[in-house]
Amino acid sequence: MERGLRVGRIGGAPVVVAWSWWLIALVLVGSYYGSFAQVLGPARGLALSGAVVVFLFASVFLHELGHGLTAQRLGLRVHQYTLTFFGGETTFDAAERGPGQSAAVSVMGPAVNVALAVIAWAAMRVPALGPWPRTLAYWLMVTNLFLAVFNLIPAIPMDGGGLLEALVWKLAGRRSTGTLVAGWVGVAVGAALVIWGLVASTRSWSAGIWPLLVGLMIAPSAWGSVRRGRHSRRVDAIDLQELVRPALVLATGTPLAEAVRALAATPFVLVAAPGGPGAPIIVGVVDQAAAFSVPPARLAGTPVEAALIPLPAGVALRLGMPGRDAVATMASVADRVALLPVLGAEGGVVGVVLMRDLAERLRDAS
Ligand SMILES: [Zn+2]
Repeated sequence: MERGLRVGRIGGAPVVVAWSWWLIALVLVGSYYGSFAQVLGPARGLALSGAVVVFLFASVFLHELGHGLTAQRLGLRVHQYTLTFFGGETTFDAAERGPGQSAAVSVMGPAVNVALAVIAWAAMRVPALGPWPRTLAYWLMVTNLFLAVFNLIPAIPMDGGGLLEALVWKLAGRRSTGTLVAGWVGVAVGAALVIWGLVASTRSWSAGIWPLLVGLMIAPSAWGSVRRGRHSRRVDAIDLQELVRPALVLATGTPLAEAVRALAATPFVLVAAPGGPGAPIIVGVVDQAAAFSVPPARLAGTPVEAALIPLPAGVALRLGMPGRDAVATMASVADRVALLPVLGAEGGVVGVVLMRDLAERLRDAS
């Protein structure tokens, strides 16, 4: 999250104005001040250019609030509202419950800008309004229409990209497909804007700079989406049946001699504590090196626990579980263990899955 000045909190989420925003605010006041001061004099010129920037700030902020309050209504926790150089950003728990809710969160930002444009348009019709307030209302209308249209560009990371992602998610039934499509469209739009900006800047620097900057902002985020989408597809495609390796299970207290005999058949020998009815409680996996280092004469009298690598109690995979859940389960213990037991439909152990096999699968297939 970009750092900046915290100006308040809404619904528990901090509102941060990034340092880049203050820069653009200064540039805007400076660029408007010249023409306003010529007509209105320095004091009123400064006031009007200040008002323009405050209105822009309010429009962008209310846009973000549209996202944030919708997300909160849908039960998602909003982390932070940030106003940046390019506008705003609302960060919240990404796990929307479905494409409909994701679309609602995306659309409510631009919808707020459309509403503000309508309000500004109505204000312009008020006969009592003087020429300068009317100019300000006109400016507010145009700015909000621009914000709505700009944000609806159907390319991630824009709101329109979020809508496109949700639409494809709904149609394809898989979020990762939506992320991938909206990401690729974003890459294409970003690249087109960069090319447009470069071509335009050969004629006029000021005509080329904005498409170039926006293209350079969109393209990397969109590429991030493509990568996220690809990763999600690999995760969804994980089938434990293809990764499981055979394992044997011994009870606690079994002599190590028996474990050494089992190791001749498979390198993965699990040890189970006597559990209740149903699933065994796997307490660990036999450490081959430790088992083979015990002198043969002592193997019969040493319990298997003497050469045990402990496994986290109660953590196991199940055949047929969604790839997403399997990856999450393995990730939760990846810093402690190299494998996890896999249980079958009846609750018995069918084998083990190695962390490195899973990592390789997530790297390779696409
Ligand atoms: Zn938005």
